[in-house]
Amino acid sequence: MTRYLVSACLAGFPCRYDGKAKPCAEIVELYKAGLAQIVCPESLSGLPVPREPTEKRGDKYYSRSGRDVTANILAGAEKALNKALNSGCRKAILKSRSPSCGICRIYDGTFTGNLTEGNGAFAAKLLEIGFEVYTEESPPEEIYRMLFRQK
Ligand code: SF4
Repeated sequence: MTRYLVSACLAGFPCRYDGKAKPCAEIVELYKAGLAQIVCPESLSGLPVPREPTEKRGDKYYSRSGRDVTANILAGAEKALNKALNSGCRKAILKSRSPSCGICRIYDGTFTGNLTEGNGAFAAKLLEIGFEVYTEESPPEEIYRMLFRQK
């Protein structure tokens, strides 16, 4: 039974801006055990893989070269939300700091590695509909018990 919606890059899928994955061992295991469903809002945004990195500045999203990609990011978040609603999941583990997936703290729009308070576009939508949202840096304790039971 699928229990968690997870950022696809954390499960080992090469969908990040640089064309690479960002695998997290526990999330990869969760996915392999059939306990997670993947989603990548930026892959649903119409932007290519690889692509320029994106950060949020004010209410808008910009690529590193200054292109306004707000429409893409919001469209990807909406499509990912539909996927979430159809998944049967109520909990998610998403990539920290991403302009789409991050919660609480995201990159600040200067492309310098600095962080600011805020949620990514997709993460914000999940929180609005009552999802429990975690990051790979502080995943729920429950997943360790779930993985242990699978062995
Ligand atoms: S949008 Fe989310 S799932 Fe997709 S590459 Fe970025 S952090 Fe990973």
